[in-house]
Amino acid sequence: MLSVEKAKQAVTENIHLLSIENISIDNAYGYVLYEDIYSPLALPPFNQSAMDGYAFIFDDFKNNLQIKIIAEVAAGDSFKGTLKSGQAIRIFTGAPVPKGADCIVMQEKVTSEKGQLLILDLEIKQNANIRSKGSQIEKTELALPKGTSLTAAAIGFIAGMGITDVNVVRKPKINIIVTGSELQKPGNILTGGQIYESNSYSIIAALKSIGISTEGAQSVPDNEAETNTIIANSIDSCDILLLSGGISVGDYDFVERALKKLEVQTIFYKVKQKPGKPLYFGKYKNTFIFALPGNPAAVLTCFYEYVYLAIRLMMGYTLPYSIGGAQIQMPLASDYVKKKGLSFFLKGKISGNTVIPLDGQESYILSSFASADCLIYLPEESENIKAGQPVEVHKLPGLQ
Ligand code: AMP
Ligand code: MG
Repeated sequence: MLSVEKAKQAVTENIHLLSIENISIDNAYGYVLYEDIYSPLALPPFNQSAMDGYAFIFDDFKNNLQIKIIAEVAAGDSFKGTLKSGQAIRIFTGAPVPKGADCIVMQEKVTSEKGQLLILDLEIKQNANIRSKGSQIEKTELALPKGTSLTAAAIGFIAGMGITDVNVVRKPKINIIVTGSELQKPGNILTGGQIYESNSYSIIAALKSIGISTEGAQSVPDNEAETNTIIANSIDSCDILLLSGGISVGDYDFVERALKKLEVQTIFYKVKQKPGKPLYFGKYKNTFIFALPGNPAAVLTCFYEYVYLAIRLMMGYTLPYSIGGAQIQMPLASDYVKKKGLSFFLKGKISGNTVIPLDGQESYILSSFASADCLIYLPEESENIKAGQPVEVHKLPGLQ
């Protein structure tokens, strides 16, 4: 049985980057850039006014010359001539600074009478309120390096350079199979011994929260032949196959046997952790297989700690070993009783500067998970933790 660290290392070492594709920036949110982007132009492309105000020649003001307002330029316009001594131009934010002008005073700091401009801002400096050409980025300068996450700001920056499409690492295709003869779809009536199937719903929602869509999940009862068939039929058509349940050692747990039969290469099976001890990770041709223990809280914990890590690595994200890289240390809000031997992932809630281990840590309980915003990681060797002791906190991605 592997430690959590060794299991995560095994995921990191085995996962490969997916292929590169060129996509429109309209759809690029959440991808990782797979090229260096050099700016095809200077930004701003011309000296630009940062204010609604007046453009003038600083020396005229210094020398107390009379300054006359001779024209107006709005954003999108440009003044064709060159400003001469004693002249000013009414200008608006974003408009090009006219040739010859080297200062802009904001409109709140002037008075004007009969076309004469009186500057009240006696502290004004040369080049005030001018965004100089190329001050954000120069033409041919490296704007965004390969490996940048395409956030809203990064996409806006790319669009601002006039670029329409980018090379990114594609997203993985993920197939989901839930196993269990006791499972009934929500919306139907439960008969004796049945429970509602919830894992596919939380997995699909968790995938959605990290920008991955799926074609839904397939279900299979605890039957060896049917388990073999459904896995064999879907293992080739995805980058990651996620299985829920049936991976323990009960008489009706057929997943491991089915994977063996298909000659899936086991990378690890069983991790010294709670919840999710029977977690399985394997590889078949180009497909990675995670078999997640069926208890609903274990499924989600293993998803966030391992599957999410694998997806990020496949997509070219470089921050390993935590949920989305968002790993912090915080003092525990209350004592927690723990023995050595297994690593724990506790459902937690951040409250001010501390993190609360929630009630209801058992692996079948989702009610507490529903109010969690993080997982608290307690390493294998840690024992009873006292309130105030720092613990590792993995923030959950998505809505909180
Ligand atoms: P298993 O790992 O198949 O032994 O399942 C462990 C526990 O999780 C059992 O109580 C199952 O009924 C429950 N379980 C398994 N799969 C699901 C599912 N898809 N939705 C809800 N509960 C499940
Ligand atoms: Mg089962």
